[in-house]
Amino acid sequence: MFRTSIAGSLPKPGWLAETHKLWPQWRAEGDALREAKADATLLWIKAQEDAGLDIVTDGEQSRQHFVHGFLEQVEGIDFQHKVEMGIRNDRYKAMVPQVVAPLKLKGRVHAFEAQLARAHTTRKLKFTLPGPMTIVDTVADRHYGDRRKLALAFAELLNQEALALQADGVDIIQFDEPAFNVYMKDAAEWGVQMLERAARGLNCTTAVHICYGYGIQANNDWKRTLGEEWRQYEQVFPALAASTIDQVSLECYHSHVPPDLMALLKGKDVMVGVIDVASDVVETPEQVADTIGRALQFVAKERLFPCTNCGLAPMDREVARRKLEALAQGAELARRRFA
Ligand code: ZN
Repeated sequence: MFRTSIAGSLPKPGWLAETHKLWPQWRAEGDALREAKADATLLWIKAQEDAGLDIVTDGEQSRQHFVHGFLEQVEGIDFQHKVEMGIRNDRYKAMVPQVVAPLKLKGRVHAFEAQLARAHTTRKLKFTLPGPMTIVDTVADRHYGDRRKLALAFAELLNQEALALQADGVDIIQFDEPAFNVYMKDAAEWGVQMLERAARGLNCTTAVHICYGYGIQANNDWKRTLGEEWRQYEQVFPALAASTIDQVSLECYHSHVPPDLMALLKGKDVMVGVIDVASDVVETPEQVADTIGRALQFVAKERLFPCTNCGLAPMDREVARRKLEALAQGAELARRRFA
């Protein structure tokens, strides 16, 4: 009951990359960088185990950014000539690579860190990939000319890598789709379908993470414009409930999402965000257990997985470590309280 995990990413140590940044520069290159990524991955696996988490991740220590880490292994993308683009409906500007030719994988994308992580933990291992719709929203298309066609092309590539990750021994494959909270109509109409295409043939557990973004200024400003009640999930959850995806990760603690929207996910495992990633204040185990208690009104005990609201990548490393402990201790308290 209440098995814990994080959304996916963790802060990179200062010797691996710039800290407190969403698109940090690496501190090394070549073999030295590869070695540093491996060291950071092992460090965070140990830290997650020590904190008491039941399901661990590689902390995304081997990718610069959650979308571009995948794109770097895709042929047909021009990384030399990045262009500035407004992303997430123009919420913020980013320098993005361009799609210039038919897309194809150059080879495996995440074999190194997935196999490394698998070899060094006996706990359940979750691995994250960007979802098709979010990738489409984070590149400049100069070739396909249609968001849906481009999403399908990416879904097929994601599927190849996901099947290989499953063969590496990954237990849960999670697709990150923050774009679902921005383009709700498209998400319900074809985003979920693309997600299912990306997950086709998988018999490991499949998940989708939908959030209101990292705790960066542009996102915090955007959230202030969303009003008293955030009802974005309401438009997408029915399509997800009817889909083949097993688990849904959502924001809860400190968000304005009405908790009753979780009831729309009947039949799915729900990863409930009980840790705020937009604040450095570390939650107490009591606060975590209280949030779990509120979610229990709408989610069955055996389907509730306490989680973080989003990734912890841009946070302070020590704050993140203490938030992992709060997550595990809060879930333990909730087990005693609600058993
Ligand atoms: Zn997120």
